[in-house]
Amino acid sequence: MKSPRPSAPAHPSLVAKTSRVLVAGHTGLVGSAVHRALVGSGYSDLVTASIDDVDLTDQAATRSLLRTTRPEAVVLAAARVGGILANFRHPYAFVHDNLAIELNIVSEAFDAGVRRLIFLGSSCIYPRLAPQPLKEEYLLTGLLEETNRPYAVAKIAGIELCRSLNREFGTDYLCAMPTNLYGPGDNFDLATSHVLPAMIRKFHDAKANGNEPVQLWGTGTPRREFLHVDDLARALVFLLESVSTATLPEGMINIGTGKDVSIRELSELVQRIVGHTGPIEWDPAKPDGTPRKLLDVGLLRALGWTPSFTLEEGIRTTYEWYRTATAPRCAGGAPGRHATER
Ligand code: NDP
Repeated sequence: MKSPRPSAPAHPSLVAKTSRVLVAGHTGLVGSAVHRALVGSGYSDLVTASIDDVDLTDQAATRSLLRTTRPEAVVLAAARVGGILANFRHPYAFVHDNLAIELNIVSEAFDAGVRRLIFLGSSCIYPRLAPQPLKEEYLLTGLLEETNRPYAVAKIAGIELCRSLNREFGTDYLCAMPTNLYGPGDNFDLATSHVLPAMIRKFHDAKANGNEPVQLWGTGTPRREFLHVDDLARALVFLLESVSTATLPEGMINIGTGKDVSIRELSELVQRIVGHTGPIEWDPAKPDGTPRKLLDVGLLRALGWTPSFTLEEGIRTTYEWYRTATAPRCAGGAPGRHATER
């Protein structure tokens, strides 16, 4: 944590490279990429605090962080995040921790005079059977997917917190809805990981074990969109610097590539990149989740932003990172950033 500044700044709602920015969740997939992108864009006054210093589910600790560091802007990338299995096993933790983190950061940021904040939601906030691609205006128009409903409800509450503050008090708290993310620093622990890093891990391990069969959940038919986390981070810096929430009809904006693949196509791509030559076995008894999740990214495109990684390039760089940074630790049985379920 950095030391306090002598006086509170004037808070322009759009952020400049001299602004002090708090990146909450800077050790995570998104937070670390946002931190990298801000440093790469010339920001030098960045505030971070690890969970050991400040547990963001603790209101008093969060208040102290905001009051002592007095950031001009906040990127809220701290959350309890996980795949279908973790959401299924720990629904209470997913709704509780996310509600607590959002309420504490958003309300304490407001009380500390922060005018600019980016809240990270997720594409799972949209109804399970909403028309595709998903437009921002489809929020709260139908029933949510069962498998991650507690998490999604917490994220929707976070959106309402930000939108209500904007409407009542004129803050500029923007809600960004990223699609499925992946990239360097991802979580490769099979108990808590998302589908893409889980596939990389499974194919990598199976290749190392003589190209044994790889078991994958579900039928392989659902379609998903994937965005490289460095593309997301670039988009967030772009939004921080140049897009006021008041110009967004719903106060929120989708961030994705606008292209999807079936889980079966994804598995074949990962298999090819990893170089696994054994069979793939599907387990249709396991849940598929939402049949299709593709974001409508028309709003972001109209603002002039486009992603830079193709899916193949992105998976190659991620696999390279996994092999060099994480794979050696796999031999000891503790792969990925999160060796245990949180
Ligand atoms: P990670 O799990 O990689 O990172 C979460 C971060 O939050 C970590 O830095 C973690 O710290 C921190 N954190 C968790 N609980 C607490 C706490 N109680 N107090 C302080 N810090 C805490 O998640 P992602 O980076 O993947 O996700 C970040 C955001 O992006 C989330 O809001 C998520 O909903 C959103 N998002 C992610 C997607 C994805 O595919 N990953 C897709 C769409 C949206 P530590 O490392 O110490 O545990």
